Amino acid sequence: MSFDDATAERWMRTALAEAAAAAGHDDVPVGAVLVAPDGTELARGRNRREQRHDPTAHAELEALRAAAATLGTWRLDGCTLVVTLEPCAMCAGALVQARIARLVFAADDPRAGAVTSLFDLVRDPRLPHRVEVHRGVLAADSAALLRSFFTARRYTPQRQGARVDEWGGLENR
Ligand SMILES: [Zn+2]
Repeated sequence: MSFDDATAERWMRTALAEAAAAAGHDDVPVGAVLVAPDGTELARGRNRREQRHDPTAHAELEALRAAAATLGTWRLDGCTLVVTLEPCAMCAGALVQARIARLVFAADDPRAGAVTSLFDLVRDPRLPHRVEVHRGVLAADSAALLRSFFTARRYTPQRQGARVDEWGGLENR
């Protein structure tokens, strides 16, 4: 399956809609879509860490789990994961485990990114599987969504502190 810029942007808009929905339940707005080898949508996911009180409920893992359940296999050969933020170490590792073919992401995450920022877990030649990477697709839209989420919460006393600091990376740009 070819994955040109227009295709990547189209799926990223779907992922951004998921990200916006995550903010609706007070989760950091990160969204993901998993695209099948034939170019059809397999699953969507969004950050539900707060909603589910689950440290592993990141958008990427939600999408991977849903797609694997639908297909009845843990192997997601040939699939493309489109996500609004550079995956963390947990999610980058999961992409390798799932044998994902391609990763498309929007904004870099300078604080926790494990694809370009801090590590490159998905293209490490020592690992048994490597993932093709498309970086920076609609990055400004994703960064704006994250920034507005944290700006809106900055002056709410009970939320000040850890959760704002979590996205401190953006403040350093
Ligand atoms: Zn993650």
